[in-house]
Amino acid sequence: LVKDRFDYLVLGGGSGGVASARRAASHGARVGIIEGDRFGGTCVNVGCVPKKIMWNAATIAEALEDAEGYGFDIGAFKLDFGKLKQGRDNYVRYLNRIYEKHLDAEGVERIVGWGRFVDAHTIDVAGRRLVAEHVLVATGGTPRVPDVPGAELGITSDGFFDLEVLPKQVALVGGGYITAELSGVLHHLGARVTVLLHHGEPIRGFDGMLRAELVQHMRDAGMEVMLWREAIRVDGTTPALVIVTRNGDRIGPFDCILWAIGRSPRTSGIGLESTGVALDADGHVVVDDLQSTAVPGVHAVGDVTGQLQLTPVAIAAGRKLADRLFGGEPEARIDYDDVPTVIFSHPPIGTVGLSEEAARARYGDAAVKIYERRFTNLYHALTPKKPKTTVKLVVTGTEERIVGIHVIGLAADELIQGFAVALRMGAKKSDLDRTMAIHPTAAEELVTLR
Ligand code: FAD
Ligand code: NDP
Repeated sequence: LVKDRFDYLVLGGGSGGVASARRAASHGARVGIIEGDRFGGTCVNVGCVPKKIMWNAATIAEALEDAEGYGFDIGAFKLDFGKLKQGRDNYVRYLNRIYEKHLDAEGVERIVGWGRFVDAHTIDVAGRRLVAEHVLVATGGTPRVPDVPGAELGITSDGFFDLEVLPKQVALVGGGYITAELSGVLHHLGARVTVLLHHGEPIRGFDGMLRAELVQHMRDAGMEVMLWREAIRVDGTTPALVIVTRNGDRIGPFDCILWAIGRSPRTSGIGLESTGVALDADGHVVVDDLQSTAVPGVHAVGDVTGQLQLTPVAIAAGRKLADRLFGGEPEARIDYDDVPTVIFSHPPIGTVGLSEEAARARYGDAAVKIYERRFTNLYHALTPKKPKTTVKLVVTGTEERIVGIHVIGLAADELIQGFAVALRMGAKKSDLDRTMAIHPTAAEELVTLR
C-alpha cells in the first residue's frame, strides 16, 4: 500500500487543482490528482475556453455585419453551427491532452475517477485508498437551476456547450457574467434573445455606469431585456416553452431557456462530513487567507471556496498554496483585492478596483472624484451601428489615487490588464496624465481624461 501514499493529494483536476498539483511536484512533492471527468475542469471544458471561442465567432459575425460600411460586398453569410461546434470541441480535446501531458511531465500521478473522503487524509477512488499529509479540495462548482416547476425544461451553461443547432428564440434567466456573455453570443450568431432579470439591474457589485450601459448596449443591439421578472414556472414543451413570472406575465414561446443564476460548490456527496471541514451556508468550504481549513492538512482553492470565481484566481491560489506547503514560503498567499476582470459581453467590459458606489462607501463622498467619458470608437466611423464606449476612473483624496477603472466598449477586454498593473502599483490620476497617449485608440481616452 506504500504506492498509495502521497505528500499531496488534489481532489479535482480543474484550474486550481492542476496548477497546485504541478507547482507542488515542481518543489519535489509526491503528488496525486484525482479527476472524475476531463482534465482542465470548468474553464477548459465548459467555461472560459469554449465560451471565448463562441464569443470570437459572434465577434466575427458582428464584423461581417460592419464590413459593408467599409466597402466590402460580402452578400449574405451563413453560419455552419455544427462546424463551429466541432472545431470548438476538437480544440477543447486538444487542451485536455495538453493538460494531461503537463501533469505527466511534472511527475504528478493522474488518478481517474470520482474521489470521496474517508477521513481528512484519506480519499477513496473506486475502492483504492489514497493517503496524504496534505489534501486539497478543488472540486469547483456546478450551475444552479431554480427550484421552480418545469425548470428541467431549461438548460444551463453546461447545456449551452452541448447545443448541436443554434436555437431560434432563447430566454436567458439571470443577470450575471454568463447572461451578459451568452446573450451577446446567441444574439450575434442569429438567435432572438430575451433576458429576464429578477430585479432592476444586471451584474450586481459592478460600477453603476457598467450596469446601466450594459443594458443599453443589449437593447440597442436588439435584445429584449425585461426587468423585475422573476420566473416562477415553465409551461409548455420544447420548442414552445413559456416562462410564467411572479407578476403574472407569460413570456415566450422559446425553444431554449438558459438558466444562468449562479453556481453551487461541489461539496456534497464527497464525504466532506467525515473530515470535520466547515462549510458556509451555501456549502462553500471555509478557508482562511492561506487557503487552509480549520482541519490540519486540509486546504481548498477555487470556486469551491466561494471566493472570486475566476480561473486566474484559482490558479494563483493553488500555486501559492503549493509554494507555502512545499516550497519553503510560509507566508505565500494571494491578494483578493483589485482583481481585474472582464465580462465578454458585446461590447466587452473590463474593470478593476472599486466601483464608484463602493469607493463612496469606503472613503466618503467628499473624498471621491469621478472622471468619465463616453465616445464613439473610430472603428465605428464607417459602420451602420455606433455603439458607444464609456471609460471611467474613480479616484480618491487630494492626490487623486486611482481606486477604480471601468470600461465598456470595443477592446475593453484587452486594455484593462495593463491599467490594472498601474492601479495595483498605486497610480495617481497625474501618472496617467503624464503618460503619452497612443492615437487613435480607445485606451488613450483613459490617459486624457479631464
Ligand atoms: P473547476 O475548474 O470547476 O474544476 C473542478 C474539477 O473537479 C472538475 O474538473 C470536476 O470534474 C472535478 N471534480 C469535482 N468533484 C470531484 C470528485 N469528487 N472527484 C474527482 N474530481 C472531481 N473564469 C475566467 O477567469 N474567465 C472566463 O472567461 C470565464 N468564463 C467562464 C464561463 C463559464 C460558462 C463558466 C461556467 C465559468 C467561467 N469562468 C471564467 C470561471 C472559471 O471557469 C472557474 O472560476 C474555474 O474553472 C474554477 O476553477 P476550479 O479549479 O475551482 O474548479
Ligand atoms: P453570477 O453570480 O455572475 O450571476 C448570477 C445572476 O443570477 C445574478 O444576476 C443574480 O442576481 C441572478 N439570480 C440569482 N438567483 C436568481 C433567481 N432565482 N432567479 C433569477 N435570477 C437569479 O452567476 P453566473 O451564473 O452568471 O456565472 C457564474 C460565475 O462564473 C460568475 O460569478 C463568474 O465568477 C464566473 N464566470 C466568469 C466569467 C468571466 O470571467 N468572464 C464568465 C462566466 C462566468 P442578483 O445577484 O443581482 O440577485
